[in-house]
Amino acid sequence: MICYLNGRFLPLAEAKVSVLDRGFLFGDGVYEVVPAYSRKPFRLDDHLRRLQDSLDGIRLANPHDDAAWRERILRLVGEQDFEDQSVCIQVTRGAASAPPLRDHPFPRDVAPTVFMFAQPLVTASAAQKAAGVCAVTAVDNRWLRCNIKATALLANVLLRQQAVDAECAETVMLRDGFLTEGAASNIFVVRDGVLLAPPPSNLMLTGITYDVVLELAAAHGIPHAVRPVAEAEVRAADELWMTSSTREILAIVKLDGAPVGAGVPGPLAQRMDALYQTFKQQVMRA
Ligand code: PMP
Repeated sequence: MICYLNGRFLPLAEAKVSVLDRGFLFGDGVYEVVPAYSRKPFRLDDHLRRLQDSLDGIRLANPHDDAAWRERILRLVGEQDFEDQSVCIQVTRGAASAPPLRDHPFPRDVAPTVFMFAQPLVTASAAQKAAGVCAVTAVDNRWLRCNIKATALLANVLLRQQAVDAECAETVMLRDGFLTEGAASNIFVVRDGVLLAPPPSNLMLTGITYDVVLELAAAHGIPHAVRPVAEAEVRAADELWMTSSTREILAIVKLDGAPVGAGVPGPLAQRMDALYQTFKQQVMRA
């Protein structure tokens, strides 16, 4: 598998970064995950905009302009021998080249590390979509800058593991009695025919899929509201969805062991998934 590291395309096994890289020492970096269907990156402009926001959030200069990113990403995608891909982009603050080698403040004159690789994209299977998935809830104990797509994901890792330990797909997080998001997804609630989504803020990452879902809801006259969603509304939901670039739209049918609504994927989840699939095809053909 060919990856990209600091200007070079090379086999993954040959890609090496310094043990002093601040991504390794401090989790001092940001990332993006871009799906590519039939080798066409989906919503790449949006991902590059969010990458810029994340870089701004950690005060790291963007090493490339959008055209340079685009060129590198397209070449990386073209180097793989599979069609549908999940492209992971990671930019860290690099490694200090002079003492102090491990110090919290930003080192001077340090070059960022830019690493990208692609994996086969595995979206939910038809059987998984038909059955839905289960989720657990947990207190959102992350920092207060969750809008930055930071590589420092330890809290998310621990939270997602709680779901895996319960043989579930996702952990739905609650902070101060309100829904924030999933450990690695956004969460939507359907109540009385209205699609509810928490508003973008520092308490969650605004997903590219989240944006597409809301665009589709608006375009197709699906009643929706972007507003704080209380825990009680999550627990009394008719439908609960998790959304992300790799999972797309997946119905959560059981929460903390209790059925969500009728305990099967609801009609709006199925409709939104169909709209999403159609939209994807249209974009990819364009
Ligand atoms: N929130 C978190 C914490 C995530 O890790 C992800 C997945 N990257 C999302 C939301 C969904 O974002 P997207 O739709 O851009 O994949």
